Amino acid sequence: MAARAVVVGAGIVGLMAAYHLRRQGLDVTVIDRADPGMGCSSGNAGFICPSLSAPLPAPGLIGRSLRSMLSRESPLYIAPSALPLLSGWLFTFWRRCNAADNEAGLAAMLALNRRTIELYDSLAEDGVAFEMHRRGLLFCFLDARALQAEYEELRRIARYDYAPPELRAKGELAAEEPALSDAVVGAVALPRERHVEPVSLAKGVAERLRSLGVEIVPRTTVLGFERNQGSVRAVLTTEGRVAVDLVAIAAGALSGRLTGELGVRLPLQAGKGYSVTYPGLDAGIRHALYLGETKTVVSQYDGALRVAGTMEFSGLNQRLSPARVRGLRAAARRYLRDPLPEEGQAWVGRRPMLPDGLPAIGRLPGLENAFVSTGHATNGVFMAPASGLALAQLSVRGAADVDLAPFDPGRFQGRQRS
Ligand SMILES: Cc1cc2nc3c(=O)[nH]c(=O)nc-3n(C[C@H](O)[C@H](O)[C@H](O)COP(=O)(O)OP(=O)(O)OC[C@H]3O[C@@H](n4cnc5c(N)ncnc54)[C@H](O)[C@@H]3O)c2cc1C
Repeated sequence: MAARAVVVGAGIVGLMAAYHLRRQGLDVTVIDRADPGMGCSSGNAGFICPSLSAPLPAPGLIGRSLRSMLSRESPLYIAPSALPLLSGWLFTFWRRCNAADNEAGLAAMLALNRRTIELYDSLAEDGVAFEMHRRGLLFCFLDARALQAEYEELRRIARYDYAPPELRAKGELAAEEPALSDAVVGAVALPRERHVEPVSLAKGVAERLRSLGVEIVPRTTVLGFERNQGSVRAVLTTEGRVAVDLVAIAAGALSGRLTGELGVRLPLQAGKGYSVTYPGLDAGIRHALYLGETKTVVSQYDGALRVAGTMEFSGLNQRLSPARVRGLRAAARRYLRDPLPEEGQAWVGRRPMLPDGLPAIGRLPGLENAFVSTGHATNGVFMAPASGLALAQLSVRGAADVDLAPFDPGRFQGRQRS
C-alpha cells in the first residue's frame, strides 16, 4: 500500500507539493479550511519571473523606505499599532538588510528556481489547463537614474547563468508597449518571463490532482496533530482524525501556528498586498508591467486587467484599507496612457513572510515524517512548482536535487520570540 500523505493548505504551494508527492507515488489528501486556491494564491499578479529571486531584505532598504513607511499610501507600510508585535521580526529583517546575506539568498533562490519556466511548461504538457502568457515583463520607470539602478540590480542574475535583462529606450518602448504614457523614460525588459492568471492555475492544478486520484477536502480546518515521539501519527481536523505516514504543512501565512503545535517556531508575518481587478477590461497592454518607482504591477489577462502591489505589515488579519487601494490606482495613472475606471474588485492577500526573506522548505526538526513549505513571500506563484518538487524529493527520497540548507525550517529555533 502506498504511504499516505496529507498536505495542509490548498494554496498554490500546497497544491504543487501535492502534485509532486503524487508523482512520486504517494497516496495524497489535501485539506483546506476554505476552497482550493482562494487564499493569497487567488488575487495576486501571477508573474512567473525567476529573475526576481532576490530576497526582500536588501542593503539600504530600511533607509530608503523609512520616511514613507508610516504613510498609508506608500508601497511599504508598517501600521504603528502593530509595531510592538512586529519589533522582533523587524529586528531580524533589518539585520538581514546587508549585501552578503542578500547575495547568498539570491544564489540559493536562483538555484531553486532554475527549472521554474521548464516546470511550468511541463505542467501544461501534463494537461493542466491554465491561462499563461509568454509575452515577457517590462520594468517601467519615470526617472532615468532609477531605471539604471534597477538594471544594475537585475543584472546580478547573469553571474548565475541566467539570461541578463535588456534595456529599452523610450523610443523603442512606444512601439513595443503603446499603452505606456509619455512620462515613462525607459524600461528593463525580461523577455523570457511570463505571467499566469492565478485562479485558473490553482483550479487547473486541483482538477489535475483529482484526475490523478488525489482527494481535496475543502472547508475543513486542521487543528493539530497526534504525535508518537519522533513522528506524526494523525492530523486532527474539524471533521475528525486522519491517519498519516507523512504530513506537509503549506498553510501560507498561518503555517506558524501549525508548526508551533509540533514545537517548531516559524516567525511568519503577513506581508499584506492588494489588487484591483477590472473584469472585462482589455487595456491593450502587451507585457506584464512593473511600475518601478511605485512597486505596482499590472497584468493583462484574457478577460480582465489587474493592478497589484503594496507591502503592508499590520498583523495576520485580512483587513482591507481603502487608502492602499487608492494608492494602486494612483500609481497606474502615472504610467499608463489611459486612466483606469474608478470601480474595480478590491482584494487583499497575506503573503507568508519570514524575516530573512527566504522560504522554509524541509523537514521539521525532531520529526521524521513532518515537513513544511511556506514563507514564499512575494514569489509563491513562480516558486511553487520548484519548491513542491524539492519537498517531494526530500520527503520520499531523503534528498532534493537542489540544496535546501538555506531554507531549513529549523533555522529560527532557539532565537528570541518575534
Ligand atoms: C498583491 C500580491 C501580488 C502578488 N504577486 C505575485 C506574483 O506576481 N508572482 C508570484 O510568484 N507571487 C506573487 N504573490 C505572492 C503569492 O501570492 C504568494 O507567495 C502565494 O500565493 C503563497 O501561496 P501559499 O500556498 O503559501 O499560501 P495561500 O495561497 O495563502 O494558501 C494557504 C492555504 O492554507 C489554508 N490554511 C491555513 N490554515 C489552515 C488550517 N489550519 N487548516 C487547513 N487549511 C489552512 C488557507 O485556507 C489557504 O488556502 C503576490 C501576493 C500578493 C498579495
